[in-house]
Amino acid sequence: MSASGRIGVLIETSDPTVADSLPPEGFEAGLGGQDDVIVFRAASWTGRGAPAHIAELCREAGLSQVVICGPSPALGLAPESIEVEDGQPRVPVTWAAIREHCAWVEKDEHARAAKIGRMIELAVVRARGTEPCTMTSIPAERSVAVAGNNHAAFRMAYVLLEAGFPVLMLQIGASDGCFYPISEALVGQVTSHANVQVVADASIEHVEGHVGDFRLRVSTPGERTFFRVGALVVAVDAEPGPLVLDDALDGAEQVLSLREYGEVVTHGKLNGQAVCIVLDRDGLDRRCAGQAALRSALEHARQGGKPTLLFRQIPVYGHGGQVLYDDARAAGVTVIRYDSAPRFSLVSGGLRVTVTDATLPDGVLEFPVDRLVVPAPRRPSESHARLAAMLRQPLDLQGYLQPGNVRHRPVGSARRGVYFAGGCHDECDPEEAGLEAQAVLADLMALLPDKKTIQVPAEKVVVDADKCAACLTCYRACPHGAIQPNTSQHRMDVLDPACWQCGICAAVCPGRALEHGSLRFHQMHDTLQVATRELLGRRPIIAFACRQSAVPAADAAGHVGLALPTDVLLIDVPCAGLVGDQLVLDALEQGARGVLVLGCHHDNCRSLWGSDLSRKRVDKVRDALGAVGVEGERVWFHTVAANEPHRLAHLLAEASKSMPAGQIGE
Ligand code: SF4
Ligand code: SF4
Repeated sequence: MSASGRIGVLIETSDPTVADSLPPEGFEAGLGGQDDVIVFRAASWTGRGAPAHIAELCREAGLSQVVICGPSPALGLAPESIEVEDGQPRVPVTWAAIREHCAWVEKDEHARAAKIGRMIELAVVRARGTEPCTMTSIPAERSVAVAGNNHAAFRMAYVLLEAGFPVLMLQIGASDGCFYPISEALVGQVTSHANVQVVADASIEHVEGHVGDFRLRVSTPGERTFFRVGALVVAVDAEPGPLVLDDALDGAEQVLSLREYGEVVTHGKLNGQAVCIVLDRDGLDRRCAGQAALRSALEHARQGGKPTLLFRQIPVYGHGGQVLYDDARAAGVTVIRYDSAPRFSLVSGGLRVTVTDATLPDGVLEFPVDRLVVPAPRRPSESHARLAAMLRQPLDLQGYLQPGNVRHRPVGSARRGVYFAGGCHDECDPEEAGLEAQAVLADLMALLPDKKTIQVPAEKVVVDADKCAACLTCYRACPHGAIQPNTSQHRMDVLDPACWQCGICAAVCPGRALEHGSLRFHQMHDTLQVATRELLGRRPIIAFACRQSAVPAADAAGHVGLALPTDVLLIDVPCAGLVGDQLVLDALEQGARGVLVLGCHHDNCRSLWGSDLSRKRVDKVRDALGAVGVEGERVWFHTVAANEPHRLAHLLAEASKSMPAGQIGE
């Protein structure tokens, strides 16, 4: 037996097409190596009771590795390891998702069986090099810092406090940056809570650490304090700019900002007055401005007021947008869509509005109003840029903290335990603020259970301190804030709770001092050795496929019955960023006809720049090969989304058709 011990290959037989194509009984004898491989067949190895069932099997058969092979889409949700004995290292799980490679829609039975056999063999090779999974216990702080001074920040604090999380409320920024005022009742509920610590006029100067153990340096006028928290929610809002008005109206007391309008309506001070609310004066206003305008106008109309809403595009989408619009209309709010900018004048101290209704043939309307309401322009506060630099997170084109991309939850970020909520990253009406708070809560319940410690897998990345030149390349490249320089010991520390195992650090380290914990260099080498062997008389093309995008796309291809070319073998990787030049060259050296790297589209990568980094490296390899006379067209990089099975199928078919036949030199 190898160091990995006895390997259990668990084959799902639920799908008749796959079951008919599976290798015959006893095929394990041909899997190579001297491992003790045992095959178990069952309808399904996934689902609720599966981990307990597999744990029992491991105990009975003495398995130290498990490979699950099947067509089930649930394979992607299978646990990465299984606890067999209390306190012992967990048994790692490797999976071969047969449908993802479309082996089951391959018409030719012989080709289908050959491909399935190769996929199982690849999974066994990978499992053979995987170490048992050791969990480590890390002391964890459960309190959550909420940074902000607006309705979204207070809503977040309230929801977390009610769920039992202690809250450090850092009041950062002006409380009037948002279109929605904070309810005094909500402020009272938060600030009087026994489990809250409020720091007024705060500014975050420094953040370090990981989920369960973030250390913050916070300054207030005349003081600097250190806090330890388990998570950080940034809900710092935008800053309101000055109202920009026509000269004629400058300083007119009849003009209110949208937020002021909301406040006076709440206090019932505009009863009976005619008010004109003007949206979209300079381009389109944000959706939350439209929703705030509709809400206040509705309330005002119910109080007997006469609100008129002028707009270019009314936001009726989003949470309850259409309902709000219909309610406002039914309550008597007048709405007018315009194309050319409305004009305002002061006549004998009275306000007049002139607007052309875009829906009427000769729609020029002129009417008097008591008040004019316009949204104040908003811009991201300077703390957005500072926090982004501190957390090493990108800003969007407008300068707001960029939320997670499609791979993250709406409030999630690339750093585990750091969330962007409210107007700091997007629009945020009170309803959305509540939903965002619930999303953060759900995540925190899983990440920070009510215990003094959290359990995380150890050695997600293995560092060889002797090889490390302390060049900091890995520290700069890690998108998840999981690498910290340890200056006293002249080495890099990997923070396991923060690490997403994207593998980018291993790919960028010039000295190969870092290795992905469960995809070691030797494992990939061994996998490639098997993958590049002739299959059906041809050298295969190796497609390194990102588990977030290309692998689900292949799975979807299976769903819709697209057969992927038999001579392209997908090797799944956690992120395309793990694929460095070494891996590409290794695949070619071992005899692959060509190499295809499939990553996420730009800005859709869960590891932020993983896909872009990979593209650059692949381009370099191709150029270098071209420079020494080897066909550069053997190495491709492409992006694909999880919902693009046809694109994936097309790319693989193109590669199969156009990459030169035979390996380099043939
Ligand atoms: S990239 Fe490699 S050599 Fe450079 S600091 Fe990181 S581990 Fe050390
Ligand atoms: S594997 Fe990814 S998340 Fe983990 S330390 Fe390396 S770069 Fe950071």
